[in-house]
Amino acid sequence: MSRILIVEDEAHLADGLRFNLEAEGYEVALAETGEQGLEMIRDAQPRFDLLVLDVMLPGLDGFEVAVRLRTDGQFLPILMLTARGRPSDVLAGFEAGADDYLPKPFELSILLARLRGLLRRSQWRQTPPAADVFEFAGRRIDFEKLELTAGDRALRLTAMEAGLLRYLIRHQGRTVSRKMILDEVWDVHEDTDTRAIDNFIARLRKHIEDEPARPRYLLTVRGIGYRFVASPE
Ligand code: CA
Repeated sequence: MSRILIVEDEAHLADGLRFNLEAEGYEVALAETGEQGLEMIRDAQPRFDLLVLDVMLPGLDGFEVAVRLRTDGQFLPILMLTARGRPSDVLAGFEAGADDYLPKPFELSILLARLRGLLRRSQWRQTPPAADVFEFAGRRIDFEKLELTAGDRALRLTAMEAGLLRYLIRHQGRTVSRKMILDEVWDVHEDTDTRAIDNFIARLRKHIEDEPARPRYLLTVRGIGYRFVASPE
């Protein structure tokens, strides 16, 4: 049975969620604040399998909770509940280490589908991985471990960085527009400030380029988007 922690300060919403998730056979615990949630995750025996995390909380907000968990080396999947119409929340959530998000208010059936997807993916992650590795120019990206190795330097990628990198690599040699990235990588359909994407690209360049200011692999296609090239001329 999967164990789910819900961090949500609105009691009626938290209770309703618990009722419905228990009806689906999950074991559910509730926390009203981020601080309490962090403590419960640290002390949990056995561990939680998934965290449903509201963004708007008294005290620590959801972003901060996610960052602290990831900093502590806690990698349980996080489904973040964001305010509708705030794509910036979605991007901030992913940046903080969330795995998926759902704008409030949401349909229960959608929440359940997202939870199942996240739990399936994390179970799959615990089984011996099929090689999910891409190598280019002396770099090695392990999408399973979310790890990038370049020479003797290794760093951890966020799920969001890895997702974007994977998408660019899958389309290598072709130009990918900012809108494609929003639609297909992050599932954000509202018009949003595409500078958020540019910030992510800048981070990826720091990871993979020798000279981030003069990229050779992750190229800007002016006015459109980006193109990944594994072996530049
Ligand atoms: Ca709230």
